[in-house]
This record gives sequence, C-alpha cells and structure tokens, in this order.
Amino acid sequence: MTLVAFSNFIDGAFDAPTVTFESIDPSTGTSWATMPAATEADVDRAVAAAHRALHSAAWASLTATARGKLLVRLGDLVVANADRLAELETRDTGKIIRETRAQIAYVGDYYRYYGGLADKHEGSFVPIDKADMEVTIRPEPIGVVAAVVPWNSQLFLSAVKLGPALAAGCTVVLKASEDGPAPLLAFAELVHEAGFPAGTVNILTGFGHDCGRRLTSHPLVSRVAFTGGPSTARAIVSNTAENLAYTTLELGGKSPVVVFADADLDSAANAVVAGIFAASGQSCVAGSRLLVERSIKGEFLDRLKRKAEAIRIGNPQDPATEMGPLATARQREWIEKIVGASLAGGGRLITGGDRPAGHDGGFYYAPTIIDAQDNAGLPCVCEELFGPVLSVLAFDTEAEALALANDTPFGLASGVYTANLGKAHRMARGIHAGVVWVNTYRAVSPLVPFGGYGMSGLGREGGLDAIRDYTRSKSVWIRTSDEPIPDPFVMR
Ligand code: NAD
Repeated sequence: MTLVAFSNFIDGAFDAPTVTFESIDPSTGTSWATMPAATEADVDRAVAAAHRALHSAAWASLTATARGKLLVRLGDLVVANADRLAELETRDTGKIIRETRAQIAYVGDYYRYYGGLADKHEGSFVPIDKADMEVTIRPEPIGVVAAVVPWNSQLFLSAVKLGPALAAGCTVVLKASEDGPAPLLAFAELVHEAGFPAGTVNILTGFGHDCGRRLTSHPLVSRVAFTGGPSTARAIVSNTAENLAYTTLELGGKSPVVVFADADLDSAANAVVAGIFAASGQSCVAGSRLLVERSIKGEFLDRLKRKAEAIRIGNPQDPATEMGPLATARQREWIEKIVGASLAGGGRLITGGDRPAGHDGGFYYAPTIIDAQDNAGLPCVCEELFGPVLSVLAFDTEAEALALANDTPFGLASGVYTANLGKAHRMARGIHAGVVWVNTYRAVSPLVPFGGYGMSGLGREGGLDAIRDYTRSKSVWIRTSDEPIPDPFVMR
C-alpha cells in the first residue's frame, strides 16, 4: 500500500522532511501515512520564522480588525473543509466520524469568536494620582508562542490556543502530537489559504524528547501553551526554566459524576455514558469516577450495564459506530494493566474488562464498569486511564458525596445529577474543579473559560479572558507639565 505523505509547515511553505515516521490507523493496526519528525534544526527554523514574522510589517502593522478578519476567514475554511479534516482525524486517531465531523464543524466557531474579539480587547487609561501625568496601558502581544497539543482532538485543542494568540497579535509554532498528527498538518493548508503572512503560524510534528523539548525551551519563545498529561507538564515546566516563558497547562483529570437518588435516572445514565464512553473515554473531561447514592446503586448500575453493552463498537469511519478503537496500542496496554490490578485488588467487574471479539487488528477495548466496592484507593479510582473504564463508589449523604468528589489531586471537570436545585448549587459551590455540569455532561463553547484545579492545570482557555494571557501590558507615562523636572533625587 502506498503511504500518504505529510509535511511540516514552516515559514509559509510545506517542507520536504529529512526524517519521517509511519502513522498507524488504530482501527486496523497498520501504517497508512508517513509523518515528518521535526528535528531540533526544523524547530529552530520555525521559531526564527515566527520571531521574524512577529516584527514584520506584514503582521505587526496589521490592525487588530484585519487580524480578526483573517481569523474569521480561517474559521469559515475550517467549516467548509470539516468533512475532509474529520476523515483524516478519524483515520489517524480512531475517533468516530460522528464526533470528529461535529467537533471540527464547531472548531470554526472558535476561530470566528476570537476573530470577533481581536479588536475588542482594549487597553486602559489610568486616573493617575499625579496632576502632571497621563498614564495609558497598552496590551501588546506577548511574543512567539509555542503551542503543544496531545493526540486527542488536536484541531479543537489548537483552536483554543491559536485563536486568542493570533487575535492578540502573537505568532505561533504549533507542535502536533506524534500520535495522529494528520488533521493538524492538513489544517496548515487552510492557514495558508486564509492568507496569514509567512511565519505567523508554523505547524510541525515530531517527538517530545527532541522537537517538543527544543520548542518549549527555545530562547525566542515567550509563551508556552500546553495540553497533555501531568508528567509531560513537569518536563515542560523544567524546559521553560531555560527561557522563562509564561506557561499555561491544560492537563488530565479523574472527574467525578455524582448521581443522587432524586435524579432523572435515565437521563443521568445517558450523561454518564456520554462522559465515559464517548471518544472511547479518551477525553480529558472523561467522567471516570461514578459516585452514586447507595439506595439506587443496584438499579442504576443495571441501567448502565445495559447501555454499555448496547454500544455499537466498530469501524470509526462508519457513521453508525458509537465507539471506535483506542488511539494507540500503548494506551490499551496501560488500561489493561490498571484494570487487571483493580480487579486483583477487589474491584467487581460489572461489564467489559477485555478486548471485544471480532476486532482483532485494531486497538479496541470494551466499555468497562468496575464496582470499586467502597475502596477509594483502587488503581481504577485513582489513575487517569484515558479509556472507556468507569469506576463506581457509593455514598450515603451529600457531605460524603462531596468529600469523595474532591478526593483526588485532579480537578478538571465534574457532573452532578439531581432534581433538587439547592443541592445542585451546594455541590457546584463545593466541588474543586474548573467545570461543573449539572444534569448534563461534555458541553463546551468558545464563550466559556475552561481549565483545571490542582494537578489538572494552570490557566484558562476559552472565553474573553483567554486573549489576556497572550498579551503583556505596557504602562506609558507622559509628563504634561512644561515646568522643569523637580528634585531628580526623589522618586516621583
Ligand atoms: P502527552 O503529555 O504524552 O503529550 C502531549 C504533547 O506533549 C505531545 O505533543 C508530545 O509530543 C509532547 N511532549 C512529550 N514530551 C515532551 C517534552 N519533554 N517536552 C515538550 N513536549 C513534550 O499527552 P498524550 O498522551 O498525547 O494525551 C493525553 C493527555 O492529555 C491526558 O492526560 C489528557 O487528560 C490530557 N488532555 C488534557 C486536555 C485539557 O484540556 N485539560 C485535553 C486533552 C487531553
């Protein structure tokens, strides 16, 4: 089979790569494309191009309104090409086509949102406490941004970085994950078509230990925007000890979903299924810890088991498929290890726990539910699996539910299912997480900030404030008096 060849996009041109690696279709386990493995020299070229572009007339002299129009055009192009990009993402990551099509069409709205925001991010005038001074605050682009994303939802996770960064006037070197980079490398064509000046957006892929390390420690990089796992985040933070880049981190989670006995149980069961089995559980916001009121535990688990066993597993390119494979063999091995340890440690298997029959070539894993039997220390309760595995704990009181929900170093997302409005508010107030969904799950929007507490990260993406994180303020003092400067040895 001829492999499809992809290139890096550096300084406005598609590069013939010097080093390549093969990308595997997770639904078959076979290679389908060659990807460029960006070297440190490639990274240096991309960062130098971004640095040149930052100060170039073609970019620096554009008004914020003109930058905004480019972003809106990019959003329109993403929507127009959503089907093609979705097919590539599904091919390269195994994420089902139903989800990639819908998600990528919505990615267009993220670019449109930040395009609209570009000329609405204002500076300020300070009513200064000195009669002979005028002080204004100018928000200026922070500089060259190194954006690093993981393999799941790469177009989406890039949009929340590229959108505010470009709106603010920064330039960007974006590193796609070495797993499933095809949609981002193809997206580079749209950046080109939208008319962004050469060097303003550079997109490459490669491995973390060389390409990612060089990019995030590069002396010309002023800002790092990272999404990925907590252990990589530590490496990134140590990389930025070299360039002292301002860094935001969007990391993993072990998100609780709390189901009270008074909830609409059928709707809650659907939300729990959406939270853990959508995207085969490979979502940072996966609701992987079910906390269920003890009085309804048996009934609720029966519902969940029926729903989990009815999930249509299959070819991710088939629109009827509800769960595809995991993205990598490595990911499946990790899940198998944790599930094995959890069952050996006393967990009770409700359903799944194995590779589904009839899907031998691909990296499939069955929807799995494990009753942790009140053992909050089981590995499946504590570890982020990034897979379709739900662990279950029971609670008797609201206070106990809240304590269990917060019994994790993570704090990314959470769900609460109840018909009692007061209880919903109390839980929303008490949960330590960046997102609380009440009687729903996995809802996102460019208008709403997103980010974690604790080990789930630092900083927020999305919403009005995200653009602020890509600017730094400059205070401009202008003395209005014509009198000579008074005593030069006294601070004014
Ligand atoms: P990962 O941390 O292994 O890799 C993420 C990126 O970091 C990749 O591009 C990788 O090449 C790069 N990288 C690896 N080592 C590096 C280094 N030393 N220096 C610089 N870059 C380096 O993550 P993954 O396995 O691809 O993705 C899964 C993780 O991402 C999960 O923990 C998941 O929860 C998290 N995630 C978080 C969010 C969020 O918004 N909070 C969204 C999606 C995924």
